[in-house]
Amino acid sequence: MLDIWFTENHTEGYRVSWRVDKILYTEKSPFQEIAVIESPDLGRALLLNNMVQTTTRFEFIYHEMIAHVPLMMHPRPKRVIIIGGGDGGTVREVLKHPAVEAVELVEIDERVIEISKEWLPEISFALGSHKVNILIEDGLKYVKRYSSRYDVIIVDCTDPGGPSLELFSRGFYQDVFQALKDDGIMVSQTGSPTFSPHFKQAVENIRQVFPHSKPYLTSEPAYMAGFWTFTIGSKEYKFDHINAGRVLTADTRYYTPEIHRAAFVLPKYIDQLIK
Ligand code: SAM
Repeated sequence: MLDIWFTENHTEGYRVSWRVDKILYTEKSPFQEIAVIESPDLGRALLLNNMVQTTTRFEFIYHEMIAHVPLMMHPRPKRVIIIGGGDGGTVREVLKHPAVEAVELVEIDERVIEISKEWLPEISFALGSHKVNILIEDGLKYVKRYSSRYDVIIVDCTDPGGPSLELFSRGFYQDVFQALKDDGIMVSQTGSPTFSPHFKQAVENIRQVFPHSKPYLTSEPAYMAGFWTFTIGSKEYKFDHINAGRVLTADTRYYTPEIHRAAFVLPKYIDQLIK
């Protein structure tokens, strides 16, 4: 048995190590260091700059929660854009909604898509769907071009740093607001409420732009310990509202209507943090 470990540095004083059975692939793209490893506790994992992005063992939790919550709030989510998300997991979940007619995936790093297609087919297979249009572009610039065009915008990006830094800014959320139709909804992953320094500011930035906004919770064993958050910004529909008549018939392993509603119930200390 190999005794190779990779260590993820979460904060100055908190790091986590995972044992590695095999290093399957490594590359330095123009944007980041990309690796695919096999680990006994994660399955196959995609790492970007040595941070776990997605794993075959736990990805369903994150991808179901970032996709189904906003899509089930909307009565007719026809046109969806995903910013980042090059591994394809969010696309796969979005396409479980027959109402969705077109998905644009705006990923800055083409290599993340190609490597995910090769090494993580169970996550990336839906990228080949005829409903999906893949655009290799900076999501920040892309959304600026459109007005009242999308039903749902999903920001499935890396934690703030390099090209994703501004994807947590108020200016970007204003552009997202503009790109959404009158009853549009956005969601962004907003990190760990406990350990991500940007969590509070990102939630505040979304609140300043959207009439309805709230973080919701999940717990993902491959990410920082404790809760993981996503934050909804909605023009019309209330965040914990599953639209009447919407039923998700596709298989899920984590998302249920009960989980949807419960995810918005925040422990007091998180509620106080964002007040
Ligand atoms: N689930 C993941 C997480 O939170 O750890 C995020 C997964 S996905 C792989 C993140 C993607 O966002 C990366 O492939 C990265 O290249 C992309 N990304 C970062 N900044 C971007 C930008 N400005 N425009 C488009 N894509 C961006």
